Amino acid sequence: MDFDLKKLLRPHIAGLKPYSSARDEYSGKAGVFLDANENPLGSITRENYNRYPDPYQSLLKEQIAELKKVSADRIFLGNGSDEAIDLLFRAFCRPGIDNVIIMPPTYGMYEVSAGINDVPVKKVPLSPDFQLEPREVLAAVNADTKMIFICSPNNPSGNKMQRASVLSILRGFSGLVIIDEAYIDFSDEPGFVPVLDEFPNLLVMQTLSKAWGLAALRLGMAFASPEIIAILNKIKPPYNISGLTQNTVVEALVNTKKLQEMMHEIQVQKENLRLQLENTAGVEKVYPSQANFFLVKIPHAKAVYQRLIEKKIIVRDRSGVYHCGDCLRITVGNERENEEFIRTLRAILADPNRSGLDH
Ligand SMILES: *Cc1c(COP(=O)(O)O)cnc(C)c1O
Repeated sequence: MDFDLKKLLRPHIAGLKPYSSARDEYSGKAGVFLDANENPLGSITRENYNRYPDPYQSLLKEQIAELKKVSADRIFLGNGSDEAIDLLFRAFCRPGIDNVIIMPPTYGMYEVSAGINDVPVKKVPLSPDFQLEPREVLAAVNADTKMIFICSPNNPSGNKMQRASVLSILRGFSGLVIIDEAYIDFSDEPGFVPVLDEFPNLLVMQTLSKAWGLAALRLGMAFASPEIIAILNKIKPPYNISGLTQNTVVEALVNTKKLQEMMHEIQVQKENLRLQLENTAGVEKVYPSQANFFLVKIPHAKAVYQRLIEKKIIVRDRSGVYHCGDCLRITVGNERENEEFIRTLRAILADPNRSGLDH
């Protein structure tokens, strides 16, 4: 398997000249800045946001580099992981020609982003116990296959993929393998960032949206070789991470104590939720989870979902996706939320007038 990044890249991206601002030519902090048509007086907010933010997010990347034990030139930051996904399509896939492989059931954005970019998607379903089928995946590859998306721990099933299967795809495919580790902080494994050096065709995505509790700030991370990262940096919107996000995250990342406390509490609540679900008549199966949610099989799931909504309890109906018939995906909430959910679910499932659940 030989990986040739130049061959993978869309030719016009290779020749593209990125946007450059005057501040690319002057990197000093002090000076009279009359180059960017900003408001010199300040902002209408209490804090000032009148100056454009650092397009390279240098401070933030230094911190993330330390945290993740990778060099800063192996880090791309996006406006959520979704931005990284979109940029990957735009960098590597010629619309209407190149294709990518996904393994349903999985995160919906890969297919949506492919659709937006007019890139055909090949689907190689996971096994019924939600594991990769590496031989089938590699058999689906053709000359125009540019990327394979692996989600581990997987959304919506919650399991992690067997490492040997991931490795055989990494070794057997000469395009880009993207491993989405949005839930890695809840998992009992370190994931694939530590082996980045060994695989020039590997890109790992993580996010601050889940464990770190920063979904509203929109910060997604991609880790890959400096060459791949340089391509993403070249085509990203110059100021894709807002100044507010950069400042807030720089301050927050040092607070790993709070992260650990929250992770501990979520594990406690998760275990409790699992026990409660397993002790609920009418719940058929709770799938094992390496994430902060459970895939749960409940006969008449769609009707149960509707009844929950009527009680203002919102879960995710996954009953329409591969291998997930009659399944709901339930996020681990706080103690009060989980209690209210379980109480309501039990009332719905115990309702003697079950006619509503029978269609
Ligand atoms: C939640 C989630 C993300 C997060 O996306 P952001 O845009 O960073 O908020 C990415 N991948 C998967 C599989 C997810 O479930």
